[in-house]
Amino acid sequence: MTIATDAARSIAPAGPSTAREVEVTLPVGYPDSEGRVHRQVTLRKMTGRDEALLADPANQRNGGRLVTALLHSCVTRLGDLDPLRRTDIETMYSVDRNFLLIRLRAFTFGAELRAGYHCPGCGHHFEQTEDLDALPTRVLPDGESPEEIIVDLRDGYLDRDGTVHTAMRLRLARGDDESAAAPQMRKNASLGKNALLARCLRSLGDLPPHRLDALGTKILADLTMTDRRLIDRAFNDAAPGIDLIRELDCPSCDHHFRASLDMTHFLAPE
Ligand SMILES: [Zn+2]
Repeated sequence: MTIATDAARSIAPAGPSTAREVEVTLPVGYPDSEGRVHRQVTLRKMTGRDEALLADPANQRNGGRLVTALLHSCVTRLGDLDPLRRTDIETMYSVDRNFLLIRLRAFTFGAELRAGYHCPGCGHHFEQTEDLDALPTRVLPDGESPEEIIVDLRDGYLDRDGTVHTAMRLRLARGDDESAAAPQMRKNASLGKNALLARCLRSLGDLPPHRLDALGTKILADLTMTDRRLIDRAFNDAAPGIDLIRELDCPSCDHHFRASLDMTHFLAPE
């Protein structure tokens, strides 16, 4: 079996494609101002000009901004939007932006990615090759708009009247949420996540909207770790798009664990 695969590889190496453009379908789609959803995207391969975008210090400080700049350069068509504006790219759903980024990487440099992981059981560091084309992707059926993410908090948010609120509704994050949360994210990943989730928070129990706005990130900061994990889990399980959570087995101690795909060599393959 292994021999057959190797032989096939030597004839047709699994490298980047030679075409300059590729068509992909977004897992969710971009709703324009008239409510029409655009899902067909044409991507062109990254060039030397895009390398300059990656090296720009302003982009390096802000991941959301970097993705916007890169996709604005490499997306040559989004549905039938004409012209395609930077703000269209910026306000796409993060799951669609991540999907495009992974397709762009696989298309330009090939689907193989060297990834490194730390075992939480024994601390062993190991590397493995990931296949970007094999990552599971959840695609919304045509005509379906993304559902809100509902989280039933276990401990809940205790407001100043002593009421505990547990029913949380969030919308999917967009590129502009990522850009806005980037300064906090740079200082502290946990505070950055609070800023991001606060922007996506639609409702919590029966807290009136103005209280929700006024409390903002304080709500997220006050939640227990148990509840914060429930929110993470809900986002990972319910959200459409590419599943970036890897199921891993430590080669040293056999411990089974979950970790986010290591993207260290994502845009700078060795
Ligand atoms: Zn281990």
